[in-house]
Parts: sequence; structure tokens; C-alpha cells
Amino acid sequence: MLTQTIPSGPFATNAYVIACENTRQAVIIDPAPNSTQAIVNALTEKQLTPVAIWLTHSHWDHIADVAPLKNTYRIPVMVHSEDAPNLQNPGSDSLPCWISIEGVETFTPIDEGTRLTVGDLTFRVIHTPGHTPGGVCFYCPENSVLFSGDTLFKGTIGNLSFATARPHLMWPSLKKLALLPPDTKVYPGHGPRTTIGAETWLNRAEEVFGGDVYDDDDD
Ligand SMILES: [Zn+2]
Ligand SMILES: [Zn+2]
Repeated sequence: MLTQTIPSGPFATNAYVIACENTRQAVIIDPAPNSTQAIVNALTEKQLTPVAIWLTHSHWDHIADVAPLKNTYRIPVMVHSEDAPNLQNPGSDSLPCWISIEGVETFTPIDEGTRLTVGDLTFRVIHTPGHTPGGVCFYCPENSVLFSGDTLFKGTIGNLSFATARPHLMWPSLKKLALLPPDTKVYPGHGPRTTIGAETWLNRAEEVFGGDVYDDDDD
């Protein structure tokens, strides 16, 4: 599996291009603000054919460049239906956003257990609500790889203070991820890689992070 990380936009959101080395088919995960040119370059240089855009969730820093890439390559966009409204009408999730983003009306809904293929690679969708209601992770068992969006970062979790967050759903989502093999490589929505085994607190996340969520602080 080829994996290229393309941190982009004001929050250095990790856009990813992943591809099957046998078939040269590729998928774009979370095209962040101003990531289009770097994504096109990565695809062109490695002679890859993009077949889909997969979204871990619909926060604006993860969907900003969906429209230009979808229009260029005429490929489907996969997102959980509970996160689709902000893809179709960016800003409707009322997160503060200072760039203008073109909405995308048509999407392919994905949910817990959906099987997705890229050439010879098979991924399973794991629904991980919490940071957003329709947050998902993409898991490839053969390659022991997980794309975790803003559900799990190295050493921490995504923000649970936004109006659309579902803090009480985050803890069971993290417990689901704790069931994956410890050597699973985790590619998060921001920051460096980690592994499931390194994040020893996943089953105790509410104890570790729950306090921050329910107090009055803004972040
Ligand atoms: Zn987010
Ligand atoms: Zn993010």
C-alpha cells in the first residue's frame, strides 16, 4: 500500500493519498484546505488513478477541497449520512470558518461495517461518533492500518466541545478502537502517526479526558 500524507490548511489537517501498488488505484482521504495541487501532483507523479474520496467526518478543514477534486476526477464521495449535511451545505454545522467552501450535493453513504476497496486493498468502515455524529475510521486489516480522522490523535482525542459533538458517544467509540490489534498503525487527522498499542488509555478515555469536556472551557 502506498500512503502519502499531505498536511494542509490553517490546522495542518492531514490529507492522505493511499493506493494499491498492483492496480495503481488510489483514494483521497480528507482533502484539506489548499491540498488540491499537492494531491494532483502526488497522483500524477506516481501514475495513480483516483477512484473515490473518503471522508472521516465533515468539519470544514477536512472537506474544503472535495468539490474541486470531485469535479476534476468525477469520482464518488463517501461520507456517513449523519455528517453529510455539512458537506452539502458547508457552515451548517456552525463551526467558526473563515474560508469559503463549495458544497457537494451528491454523496455515497457509509456506515459501520461498510466494505470499501481500492484495487486489491480492502477497508472496513468503523463508525466512531463523538467528535461528530457521523465520524468514521477506515481500517485495513491486511496492512494493519487505521485512518482515524479526529477521533484519535497521538496521545489525545478530537475536540468534544462543538455544538455537533456527542461526548457520551466518544468513549464507546474509543473502546471499539482499543479492540484492534496493538500493532495497528494509526494515521490521524492531525499530527504524527501512532499505533493502537501505544495509546494505552483508550479504554480509560472518559476518566482521562472526560473532565475537560463537561467543564466550561471553550476548547
Ligand atoms: Zn474535526
Ligand atoms: Zn480536524
